[in-house]
Amino acid sequence: MGKERILVHICCAVDAIYFLKRLREDYPNAEIIGFFYDPNIHPYEEYLLRLKESERACQILGIKFIEGDYNLEGWLKKVKGYEHYPEKGARCVLCFDDRLEESVKKAKELSCNAFTTTLLMSPKKSQDQLKKVGENLAKTYGVKFIFKDYRKGGGVQEMNKLVRELQIWRQDYCGCLFALVRQKGEKAFLDLTGFYGRLPGTKEEHIFIRQLKVFAELKGLPTSEEEFQFLGWFPLRGKLEIAKTKEVIPSLIKPFSAPIRGVAKGVVTKKVGNKLYLNKQNVVIELTERLKGYPVESPTLSNPTFVVEKKYEKLLLKNKLSATLEVRVEFAKSRNLIVGDIEKSQKVVLIPADTTFGGEGITLRKAEGIIDQLSEEIKEGKTAVAVLGAQSYSLGWKYLKELHPQVEEKLIVENP
Ligand code: SF4
Repeated sequence: MGKERILVHICCAVDAIYFLKRLREDYPNAEIIGFFYDPNIHPYEEYLLRLKESERACQILGIKFIEGDYNLEGWLKKVKGYEHYPEKGARCVLCFDDRLEESVKKAKELSCNAFTTTLLMSPKKSQDQLKKVGENLAKTYGVKFIFKDYRKGGGVQEMNKLVRELQIWRQDYCGCLFALVRQKGEKAFLDLTGFYGRLPGTKEEHIFIRQLKVFAELKGLPTSEEEFQFLGWFPLRGKLEIAKTKEVIPSLIKPFSAPIRGVAKGVVTKKVGNKLYLNKQNVVIELTERLKGYPVESPTLSNPTFVVEKKYEKLLLKNKLSATLEVRVEFAKSRNLIVGDIEKSQKVVLIPADTTFGGEGITLRKAEGIIDQLSEEIKEGKTAVAVLGAQSYSLGWKYLKELHPQVEEKLIVENP
C-alpha cells in the first residue's frame, strides 16, 4: 500500500495552523495537502486576505497548499432562502455541505485516501453538524472522513497561543455577508464597500500591508505590526454634473468633505482665487491644473468640495450644476508593518501603504521589489523597512516616531 494521502479543507489560517500541526503529529507518514475552498467568504478582498494567510500557515508547517474556485454564484444559489438564519443554523449546514463536497471531490481527483476540515477546530462551529456532513459524503464518494476533536484538552488555548506567536491574521466574522450584516449591522459597510485605490483604514490598504508581510516572511525576514486607530473618512458615492444634460464632470472629492443631503442643485455665485462657490449646501469646486498628483491634506473646513480641472471652468460657470455626495465618518484601524530590526538598523526605508484619493501610490510589485533588494541588509540588521499605514494623513509616520523616537535620527530614505 502506498503512502497515505490526506486532503484537508482549510477555512482560515487561525483554525488551520493548530489543526494541521496536530494532524501531522497524528499521521507522521501521510502526505497532507491543504485545500482552500471558501466561496462563503465575502467580500472578495477578505477572501484574498484569508487565502494568503492560509498559504502562509501551510508554508510555516511545510504543507502543500492548493486553492479551489471562488464559486460565489454557486454558493449563493445553495443557501438561497436561508439568508436570514443565524450562525450555527440551517444555512451553515448547507455551507459545510458545499465546502466539504467540493473537498471530497478534490480528494478523489488527487487520489487521496481521506479528507477532513479545519472547521472542526473552530469553537463557533458545531462538530456534530460537521461530522454528519463529512460522514455522509464519505459514504457517497468512498473517501474516508477523518473526524478529530483537537479543541478538547486545552486545544483552543494552544491554538490561540500559536496564532499570537506567529501573528496570524484573525478575522472578526465567520465569512458570509449574511452573518457579517447580522453581527455588525450598520458597521458592515466598511467590510462590504469596495474603495478605489487603498484609502487609509480600508481593507484594500490592509491587504496591501498583509501581502507585503507574507512576502517578507516567505523570504525569511522578521516582521512585526503596530496597529493604531484614527477617525477615518470614507467616500461612498458622489458626483458633480451639469444639471440639464447630466454630463458628469470628472472630479476628486476632497478628503473630509461633509455629505450632501439628497442632491444639491445650484449655480456658481462666487469665485475667489481658484474656488467656485455654489449657492446650495456650501458646495465648493476647487480648480486645479491636473487631478493627477493633487495633494491630500487634512482640511480645516469640511464644505463638500469637488476638485475639478481648470479646463471645465467655463462649463461650470454657465450651467446649473447638480452635486451628490454620500460619506461616512467612522473610527478605523490602520497599521505600520516593520520588516527587520528597526531599533538596531542604521537606515529605515519608508513605504506608504495607502494611496491618495486619486488612487496614486506605490504598486505591490514595486514595494516587494524594494524589500527584495534590501533583503540581505535587512537580514544583517543594517536596514529596516517601515510600511506606513494612513500615510496620506501622515499618521503612519507620526505613530512610528511615537513608538520609535530614535528613528528620526537615522538615515531615512523616502520611497521614490
Ligand atoms: S455563518 Fe459561516 S458557516 Fe454559516 S453560512 Fe455563513 S460563512 Fe457559512
